[in-house]
Amino acid sequence: MSAPRLEVDLEKIRHNASALVSKLGGHGISVTGVTKACLGEPRVAKTLLAAGVKGLGDSRIENIEAMRRAGIAAPMTLIRSPMPSQAARVVAHADISFNTELDVIAALSSAARRAGKRHGVVLMVEMGDLREGIMPGDLQDTVRAALRFPNIDLKGIGTNLACQSGVSPDTRNMSELSRLADLLDADFGLVTRVVSGGNSSNLKWALSGEKAGRVNDLRLGESILLGLDPLDRLPIEGLYTDAISLVAEVIETKTKPFRPWGTIAQAAFGGTPLSANDGSASRTILALGRQDIDPLGLTAEPGIRVLGASSDHLVVDAGTCHVTAGSEMTFQLNYSALLRAMTSPFVTKTYSLPAGQGAFESRRAPGPRSSEEPHQWH
Ligand SMILES: *Cc1c(COP(=O)(O)O)cnc(C)c1O
Repeated sequence: MSAPRLEVDLEKIRHNASALVSKLGGHGISVTGVTKACLGEPRVAKTLLAAGVKGLGDSRIENIEAMRRAGIAAPMTLIRSPMPSQAARVVAHADISFNTELDVIAALSSAARRAGKRHGVVLMVEMGDLREGIMPGDLQDTVRAALRFPNIDLKGIGTNLACQSGVSPDTRNMSELSRLADLLDADFGLVTRVVSGGNSSNLKWALSGEKAGRVNDLRLGESILLGLDPLDRLPIEGLYTDAISLVAEVIETKTKPFRPWGTIAQAAFGGTPLSANDGSASRTILALGRQDIDPLGLTAEPGIRVLGASSDHLVVDAGTCHVTAGSEMTFQLNYSALLRAMTSPFVTKTYSLPAGQGAFESRRAPGPRSSEEPHQWH
């Protein structure tokens, strides 16, 4: 098989998604499955839908278009504020978009009118993480103005935390979001049917037993794909953390000194990786680089250590593992490494069911599969 490649286990992704759908369902919260980390891959999207997500969310209209081309008719939300230059594409393919600017909503309304359609809008509210969002004090005026656009349906409000500044979702900011929803409904009638509380970093709050209040949807990507809580990057109980792995191929393996020699200046990506150790060790090179992954986001198998990477070479200490040119090594990825691997044209993507074994086999989702069998997608 070709290398490097991402091996995506759809059954594990389905398990993770359906576990989160059912846990959150018990708190009155639905799940929007976020597909951006896999570039809107239709096989992943169909897997999420089979697991019971209410709709799909992606930050790029190109990914939404790819899912539509694959025949996916589920509700889709563009979870990044649209570029005005893409307004026509957004209303053509996304049912709803997240918005913070009246100028953008105006462009969407015009595009929707030209297309003879209506477009749903969720207004994003700034709750302290300082990425996208309308300041809470400006929300009422924005809603009043948004309600005047002829081809726009206001669907509700949302917020996003823990992305730009690491501000955690908690009782305070989540009840503030609920309070804003109540205020808007009191002023304008039922305008906040959707209260989209946040992303995977909201799970601790949502599952803590804390009241969800008006929050009735979360947008989940990382937790489904990697089984990790982005707040601490620890595994979420009951989820697979190895649904996606990366396989790369060895192109050199030699014993070399720990210490580089010669006049030391900057390396290709800055820094001078000096080792204090004398002696030598096995140094193995894989055909994989920063163009394909974030080297800090790779976890090798036990006994193997990532030493560094340039554009096209990943250097590891293979320890006592016996590898030769042509051997393959498997790595786990964090979100940053996953994004880059999915985006790299040099990394092949493979999608499969587990081969009947895996570290968390006993936790495999029980029950019959839907008629939409991932088998046919090989
Ligand atoms: C990426 C993104 C998400 C999903 O975040 P995860 O941490 O992967 O769950 C949710 N909402 C917005 C606005 C996003 O950009």
